[in-house]
Amino acid sequence: MKTSIATVTLSGELPEKLEAIARAGFDGVEIFENDFLAFDGSPADVGRMARDLGLTITLFQPFRDFEGMPDALRGRTFDRAERKFDIMQELGTDMVLVCSNVSQAALGGIDRAAADFRELGERAARRGLKVGYEALAWGRFVNDHRDAWEIVRRADHENVGLILDSFHSLSRKIDINSIRSIPKEKIFIVQLADAPLIDMDLLYWSRHFRNMPGEGDLPVTAFTEAVASTGYDGFFSLEIFNDQFRGGSTREIAADGHRSLIYLADQIRRKVDTPVGIDMPDRAAVRGVGFVEFATDAEEAVELVALLEALGFRKAAVHRSKKVTLFQQGAIRILVNVDPAGFANAAYAVHGTFAYAMALVVDDAAEAYARALALDAEAFAQPVAAGELQLPAIRGVGGGLIYLIDEKSPLGRFSEIDFEPVAEEGKAGDAGDAGLLQVDHIAQTVAYDEMLTWLLFYTSIFDTRKTPMVDIIDPAGVVRSQVIENEAGTLRITMNGAENRRTLAGHFIAEKFGSGIQHLAFSTSDIFATAEALRARGFKALPISPNYYDDVEARFGLEPALTERLKAENILYDRDGEGEYFQLYSGTYGEGFFFEVVERRSYRGYGAPNAIFRIAALKKQMRPEGIPRDAG
Ligand code: MG
Ligand code: MG
Repeated sequence: MKTSIATVTLSGELPEKLEAIARAGFDGVEIFENDFLAFDGSPADVGRMARDLGLTITLFQPFRDFEGMPDALRGRTFDRAERKFDIMQELGTDMVLVCSNVSQAALGGIDRAAADFRELGERAARRGLKVGYEALAWGRFVNDHRDAWEIVRRADHENVGLILDSFHSLSRKIDINSIRSIPKEKIFIVQLADAPLIDMDLLYWSRHFRNMPGEGDLPVTAFTEAVASTGYDGFFSLEIFNDQFRGGSTREIAADGHRSLIYLADQIRRKVDTPVGIDMPDRAAVRGVGFVEFATDAEEAVELVALLEALGFRKAAVHRSKKVTLFQQGAIRILVNVDPAGFANAAYAVHGTFAYAMALVVDDAAEAYARALALDAEAFAQPVAAGELQLPAIRGVGGGLIYLIDEKSPLGRFSEIDFEPVAEEGKAGDAGDAGLLQVDHIAQTVAYDEMLTWLLFYTSIFDTRKTPMVDIIDPAGVVRSQVIENEAGTLRITMNGAENRRTLAGHFIAEKFGSGIQHLAFSTSDIFATAEALRARGFKALPISPNYYDDVEARFGLEPALTERLKAENILYDRDGEGEYFQLYSGTYGEGFFFEVVERRSYRGYGAPNAIFRIAALKKQMRPEGIPRDAG
């Protein structure tokens, strides 16, 4: 796929935008007139900058209110066009985007518009330029790509073609099969944008809420598939108007954009015979969480290890060459890394004690790794001792690591190859076990404006889906929560986006200097037995307000005996349809990290209605602002 992006998508000055676009791997760029006008250099300077960065200027835009003007205004519109052509020639681009007329002065009529385009095509041809016509969803007379195509068809000029924009077509729910019959050489360029489904004015929706393909809810894949079925192999160009993007990191938004196009091309390639898209392995099916690794130091590890032991974990193995201990319970493996060298230590130095890495078990680690890299993930490697495994790894949320392991290669035996078992003395069998079975979910806290980045990261690389974003009410503000999970439930990630540092999630980010894993939930098949076993081990569950239990009993019509049991063990309860969910929490550790234990009985959610009670309870345990941890 030949990739392009409009400068309007990104924040910053024009040189900064071009640099980020080239760095992200795009082939081309659309120069938006306002970006050019705000820049001090000449059009030739802009053209030179783009070419030096290896970028093709795919088009100059927009040229507004052109077609169908009354005779009194028609001459002036052509004069305006000639001035745009001057700029284009200096820039070194051969195409201008003309969007459908929104002027009150405009006259309708397909033939009138076609005649205007024929003349514009003639003028453009004299200079070796091309004119692309795009139907805006709110155009006065033309707001449907089928009408724009009819005008282009009747203009019947080699230098006049159609510009398709997924937002304009999909926001008006225009039948995309109408694209399939357009000759590919008449499609001059294809612009892509997605958007969340929000019921609002089209213009406002378009100008503020567009997002990258795959980040929203529009059927952009089906749209692109229809385009590809024509044999079109020109540029696919992102044109995203989004307030958040225009206030965000130029480089990161550009990188997200590139990833979105590579992912889209991969989906299309699997459906249509098309030159679009590069060969890469399928999205990786995740079979489970192989381990979660904490970075800490010897001193802080004491408290963490005590908490793990209270949760029923036992020390199972030690790393052969590094100061890393493996704790195990059921299928759950937790690594505690206190090694004074290496990446873990560097992560600890920045973030404090931190769950900085996780391993995902996939069918084929090498393939998953290849796909991740094809989708612009950042590779990670550090030296390992002779005879030890180099686990393929990529950088994830907050710069943390995601290791990729599988059962088919020696990677699946990392805990035997890299670790030495510890002989268990005085503990027969699973006597110390609290019944924890596996990692149920991993909760990552990120800044709100990173949520789409990581949503695209997870859904493009791994075989996962998103569920609708929900608002979680923290007493100090709203936290947005987005679930990424697979069908089997073997990978469940909840991502909480914090906008404000007074929320628990916001505090975590501020104090940890960034995003990361904020809680880990383990599953049990018997929450009451586990609660009892935990209590016997000295585990202190997070105390929940007695008022909660009065409410939950009334809300769900629970038997008073059950409510009493829940209350006695500080277990939270939720229901969806027939499904039941039981949750209990540890207190907070460090700057707001905690553990959760859950029992699911045919329940698919994450207890969102309980979050406010859990957050309120956790906040009571947090140290007051400004008091060092040692003091309290
Ligand atoms: Mg457009
Ligand atoms: Mg949870």
